[in-house]
Amino acid sequence: MQTDDSLEKVSAEVVVCTKCRLSETRKKAVPGEGTVAAKVIFIGEAPGEQEDTQGRPFVGAAGKLLTELLATIGLKREDVYITNIAKCRPPNNRPPRKDETVACRPYLERQLALIRPSVVCPMGNSAIHALIETGESVTALHGIPLEVGAVTYFPMYHPAAALYTFQLRRVMEEDFRKLRGLLDSY
Ligand code: URA
Ligand code: SF4
Repeated sequence: MQTDDSLEKVSAEVVVCTKCRLSETRKKAVPGEGTVAAKVIFIGEAPGEQEDTQGRPFVGAAGKLLTELLATIGLKREDVYITNIAKCRPPNNRPPRKDETVACRPYLERQLALIRPSVVCPMGNSAIHALIETGESVTALHGIPLEVGAVTYFPMYHPAAALYTFQLRRVMEEDFRKLRGLLDSY
């Protein structure tokens, strides 16, 4: 990592980035937001319509649930870092393509290197499979810490999933309680 790198610098590069085709259809790129002192980083798939309009991550319905779940364990959005695998909205919310996530990956790597969080929470299969080499899905992996090298992953359901399947909200609340315990152990 360059020693003069910063989250502000990463964000400034992301908002003008044209490294993949998503730059042609986005309104605003969404670098991510939160604190460099975050003990935990939450990583989603890609911005949706609200995020694309505002340039901020998780500000739609799924984001409202994420904010509520954080509050259940005494955390505010400003206490953590929230971002996505792809920083720009794919047209019609299609999943980001492999070449797009590959092009975007260095931004996430720099964010991770700067924040050095104790716990990395990929939310949903897309983020999980972008970060962890596994054949298992979120159904098997959620709520269980997974150490890979120096990184502790704590896979979670994507909050959007809990908007469609109400019972998942309870599962997510339980996973957040476990995350609280994990963070308190550091
Ligand atoms: N879903 C995501 O994966 N990311 C966002 O920022 C919003 C919704
Ligand atoms: Fe650049 Fe990432 Fe946006 Fe593609 S998705 S244009 S790589 S910031």
